[in-house]
Amino acid sequence: ALMITDECINCDVCEPECPNGAISPGEEIYVIDPGLCTECVGHFDEPQCQQVCPVDCIPLDPDHRESRDALMKKYERITAA
Ligand code: SF4
Ligand code: SF4
Repeated sequence: ALMITDECINCDVCEPECPNGAISPGEEIYVIDPGLCTECVGHFDEPQCQQVCPVDCIPLDPDHRESRDALMKKYERITAA
């Protein structure tokens, strides 16, 4: 999964781009639900939120490192639900 750092300026550009509905406004900055973020695997070649973020504050989440296989399984689980 990816994560949003405290450099987020709450511009709301990323939220509608997420195909999994993983992004939401948090208490102070936008947040990504690691249970829903597939790094866009299954939908797009590149993480869509990273593509649009104007301040480049969406890196890989070091606490949620996943293989492409695991991300694909998550995608299948989400779309089956
Ligand atoms: Fe959503 Fe893709 Fe960004 Fe993950 S990488 S939060 S799935 S847009
Ligand atoms: Fe924050 Fe970037 Fe999303 Fe804007 S696009 S809300 S700056 S994470």
